[in-house]
Amino acid sequence: MNAAREAVAAVVDPEIRVITIADLGILRSVEVEPDTGRVVVTITPTYTGCPAMDVIRADIRRALAVAGHPDAEVRTVHSPAWSTDWITDAGRAKLAAAGIAPPAPVRRDGVVPLTLAVRCPRCGSPETEQLSRFGSTACKALWRCRACSEPFDHVKAL
Ligand SMILES: [Zn+2]
Repeated sequence: MNAAREAVAAVVDPEIRVITIADLGILRSVEVEPDTGRVVVTITPTYTGCPAMDVIRADIRRALAVAGHPDAEVRTVHSPAWSTDWITDAGRAKLAAAGIAPPAPVRRDGVVPLTLAVRCPRCGSPETEQLSRFGSTACKALWRCRACSEPFDHVKAL
């Protein structure tokens, strides 16, 4: 059971390959059905319509087959909806280490957050600007640092 969970938790996000689906917070549970012994994995998709989810489902099944569970089932639940707040601290650190600015925490209390919370992942400067709402994937926006002039991906807060 722990081996099954470890195998699933180690599956990397196909779009942001530096972090795992556990880091991303989309892995809800890994359970074994008592009757059949079958492993059932529950995930919550990230951004709606992210084509990466099909890849992730296939990668989970492959990882479990290698771990000795070829008949695993992957279920998808949409409620509660995933948000970037579910990305773990370890996941945020890995994003930053890869030069990707992690998403800012989303305020749930209705207070409009201060803008320009996006810091350059290379030099830490808050003097950044958005170049494009869409970066290398639909889940990321392209930003540039005014201090060091480096462009970088920023995972959009959701
Ligand atoms: Zn910079």
